[in-house]
Amino acid sequence: MTKMIEVVLKSLWRMLRLALWLIGIMLRFTFGLAWQQTFGRSNVYVRRDWDDLGVGRVRWADLNDPRWDTVSGGAPVENLLPLLHAYVWCDKVRGKIGHSCAHGPGPHNIKVCMLRDDNSRRIWRRLLKSVGPDRRFQNL
Ligand SMILES: [Zn+2]
Repeated sequence: MTKMIEVVLKSLWRMLRLALWLIGIMLRFTFGLAWQQTFGRSNVYVRRDWDDLGVGRVRWADLNDPRWDTVSGGAPVENLLPLLHAYVWCDKVRGKIGHSCAHGPGPHNIKVCMLRDDNSRRIWRRLLKSVGPDRRFQNL
C-alpha cells in the first residue's frame, strides 16, 4: 500500500515538474516575445555628432552594431573620449539630424551618436549591456 502511494506521489511530482516546465516555456514565448517587441519599439534619441543640435528619434530595433567609438559619422571628427555610436538607415530616423540625402540615392546607412542625457535610463542601461561598460573615462 505505501509502495503504491509512493509511486503515485512520484508520478504526480513528475507531472507537476513537467507542467511547470511547459508553463515556463509558454511564458518565455508569450510574455518574453511581447516584451521584446515592446522594447524593440522603444525610442532611442540619436545625434549625428555629440555637439550636433538636431536630435532624431529611432526605434531600438533599427539600431545596428552599437559600439564605443571616438570617430563620429558625417564629417569624421575625432573625439577625445569614446562615445556610444551605432548605425541606422537614414529613412528610419524621425526628426532632423545632421544628415541630408543629397550625396546619392538613399536610404543611407549612417553612423549616429547616442548621449546619456538624451535617453531614458532604461535605454541607456540596455545600450551599455550590449556594448560593454562605459569606456568614456578609461583613457584618462
Ligand atoms: Zn540619407
